[in-house]
Amino acid sequence: MAVMMNYIPETLDEALLLRKAEGAIPLAGGTDLMVQGKRGIGLAPAADKPVMIISSLKELKGIAMHDDGSVEIGALTTAGEIAQSLMVPWHVRMAASGMGAVALRNTATIGGNIGNASPKGDLPQPLILLDAEVVLISFGGERRMLLDDFIKGSKKTDLHDDEIIKSVIIPPHDFTYSYYRKIGMRKANAISKLSLSAAAVVKDGLVVDFRASSGAAGPKVIRSREAESMIIRRPVDEIPDIVPDFLTAWDHAISPHAMPKYRRNSTSRMLTRFLEAIVNEEAPGIVE
Ligand SMILES: Cc1cc2nc3c(=O)[nH]c(=O)nc-3n(C[C@H](O)[C@H](O)[C@H](O)COP(=O)(O)OP(=O)(O)OC[C@H]3O[C@@H](n4cnc5c(N)ncnc54)[C@H](O)[C@@H]3O)c2cc1C
Repeated sequence: MAVMMNYIPETLDEALLLRKAEGAIPLAGGTDLMVQGKRGIGLAPAADKPVMIISSLKELKGIAMHDDGSVEIGALTTAGEIAQSLMVPWHVRMAASGMGAVALRNTATIGGNIGNASPKGDLPQPLILLDAEVVLISFGGERRMLLDDFIKGSKKTDLHDDEIIKSVIIPPHDFTYSYYRKIGMRKANAISKLSLSAAAVVKDGLVVDFRASSGAAGPKVIRSREAESMIIRRPVDEIPDIVPDFLTAWDHAISPHAMPKYRRNSTSRMLTRFLEAIVNEEAPGIVE
């Protein structure tokens, strides 16, 4: 790969201009880009387009709660900041707090985690569970789309050549039960081998909302609306009869290529545990 001219824009407008005029590649924390285009300590990564270091753009920083209860996380917010903010929904905080080691969490950004679109990236999995949207900005204006639609596959996104990821918006939720688990090789610096989020709302013996998302389970995060619909609007006491068909449907949704049998079994066990909490009408909250 050729080594190109690099830039450090001071404003978002300047970055958008570089993006439009030269297709400059955004470098946020650089924890993916520096590894992928490694040239040496202190040198910008090799790439076929100029690289622009966007880490000082304050327009892309910060976490805010809007009047409707949705939470907006700027693209340059680090995993460490997300893990520590009580404004951020629990599933996303859990995923952020399990990313790499402390030094990585202080550098790795949510925009980079999404932009990299690795099937093993930790943040898209809970964000897709929560129907998060991504805000994309260019000189043409802003557009918003479901993150689930934005990430098209392994390392593939719908980012246009003149766009930058501005933020992620998470709609408000009030779940009765929540579940998150990441299985990696070891605690520190462990890239996901498998992860699962699940959430449910139960009211008066009826499952009003049920959702789950599997990470590192295929080319992108798996969210099977078809399988979820088997549980939604069903009385809690009917769930035990549905569980076997639900688990089969989920097993079909996750990719056999990415997920050998033993890992699919782990997913089934985690989903079974979560459904058990609903059926047993355990105290609302986090399912361990
Ligand atoms: C030792 C190590 C351990 C790791 N452990 C984990 C882990 O446990 N979990 C995990 O999920 N990941 C892990 N990673 C991967 C990486 O740290 C994350 O994906 C991180 O979130 C990337 O963020 P970044 O800001 O460093 O991205 P960068 O490297 O700066 O960028 C990544 C990609 O996103 C694009 N991009 C960045 N910001 C924007 C933007 N605002 N708009 C448009 N495009 C943008 C870049 O152009 C590039 O294509 C690890 C990496 C290393 C080196």
